[in-house]
Amino acid sequence: MMTMKGRTVSAALASKKKGEQSNRISPELPTFDTMSILSGSHPEPVAPSGPANLAAPLPRPLDPYRWRPEFPILQRKLDNGKPLVYLDNAASTQHPQRVIDAMSDCYQRYYANVHRGSHTLSGESTLALESARETCARFIGAASTHEVIFAAGTTAAINTVARAWGDWRITANDTILLTIAEHHANIVPWQQLAQRTGCKLEFLPIDDAGEIADDVVEEHLRRTRPKLMALTAVSNVLGTEYPVERWTRLAHQAGATVLIDAAQAAPHQPLDVKAWDADFVVFSGHKLCGPTGIGILYGKRELLEEMPPFLGGGAMIRTVTTEGFTTSELPTKFEAGTPPIVEAIGLAEAMRFVDDVGLDAIHRHEQQLAAAALRGLTPIEGLKIFGPPADRRGGIVSFVVEGGHTLDLAHWLDRRGIAIRDGHHCAMPLHQRLGVSGSCRASFYLYNTLDEVEALCAAVAEFHQRFIAKSRKRNPPSV
Ligand code: PLP
Repeated sequence: MMTMKGRTVSAALASKKKGEQSNRISPELPTFDTMSILSGSHPEPVAPSGPANLAAPLPRPLDPYRWRPEFPILQRKLDNGKPLVYLDNAASTQHPQRVIDAMSDCYQRYYANVHRGSHTLSGESTLALESARETCARFIGAASTHEVIFAAGTTAAINTVARAWGDWRITANDTILLTIAEHHANIVPWQQLAQRTGCKLEFLPIDDAGEIADDVVEEHLRRTRPKLMALTAVSNVLGTEYPVERWTRLAHQAGATVLIDAAQAAPHQPLDVKAWDADFVVFSGHKLCGPTGIGILYGKRELLEEMPPFLGGGAMIRTVTTEGFTTSELPTKFEAGTPPIVEAIGLAEAMRFVDDVGLDAIHRHEQQLAAAALRGLTPIEGLKIFGPPADRRGGIVSFVVEGGHTLDLAHWLDRRGIAIRDGHHCAMPLHQRLGVSGSCRASFYLYNTLDEVEALCAAVAEFHQRFIAKSRKRNPPSV
């Protein structure tokens, strides 16, 4: 149940009205006037203060066994009695009980539509939604809640930028610079924009380790003079962590606007949008212990204020007549229709949870798991692992077994309770560059253990021994 240090949201609302100081950690209260929220107008909020993290990172290494009991699904045994080994976190992470409780508390006690209602429940829901926005702003280090737009996810956020900023700014003479390691969500919206405008797309190539040298970036920026550089912070296949802060500086020097796809970064490492200085940063809630149907579109305020809105409808307008409309202020200018209220409440609780665990500790833990996976998988004959060494990647390890199909291996692992992903992971151009049609991907999060990594490596080795090595012995390749 959603409480604020033991208080309900209603009590929090009541005390806020009496001018009580807000609590910073458990569901926070907006620092702007409650009545203006209830009336639907957004006055200037107080800029969230402090660093990107909500609390200092834990000084000691992360102990996954400390956090696993908080995730009900991790206690589950599969139908064949095997315990679940969940290694599909790059696709979606699991939920701690407190996120489920926060959402169910809203549904059970104070759910109503937001911003325009003059009744108690609408006021409480509005307050919780705007408190969630403050939590999100603090989590990413945004200067203001005006810069935090609730979108349906990374894909929706990138499409919003492609439509709102792209249709406004891009012409047939312009170039958009991407990397070949992008998820389709950061390729197709730009291809659609190219279809609409005639602009050109260029792709930064990766080297054989899945990395891109600074001079390659500089050369592309110099030669193509892009209007936009849109790139992923962490590859969802290779796990490569790209130096987005440095490349954003280079892109800005070349006159480009910068969008960072942080879908595989925001859940796994501290994120400070002020330090990155990118113009847009996007990510999804469901990869961060939060619900589906919500993500964040961060944009620099001046840019968002100038940009025309994309979706039209309720909430994003100030006035409507039969002749036309005027737009509302940020952030609702980009939030047409009913926002994802309960999802925002869940996402804020997920951010508080992840922050309690400590993002620095999560990052270190995942790098250790990835290093263990590389150590365990590398000796397996015929296994090809993609991506850089462990110290330059997050907790993602993709591989193929020569002579084996990725789907067969995924099924083999599933029968042992091990959930990984196989296929192209929505990165077909990248797989083409790697010379394979798909791969198997193990991806780790804060609750994964070294024992689980060992189980993965042992099961892959057994698959190779049973199906590849034995059949090679029976049918040796002809010389
Ligand atoms: N970008 C990256 C790097 C991703 O890994 C993903 C999802 O896997 C996406 C974008 C798309 O995210 P969503 O499906 O939540 O919109």
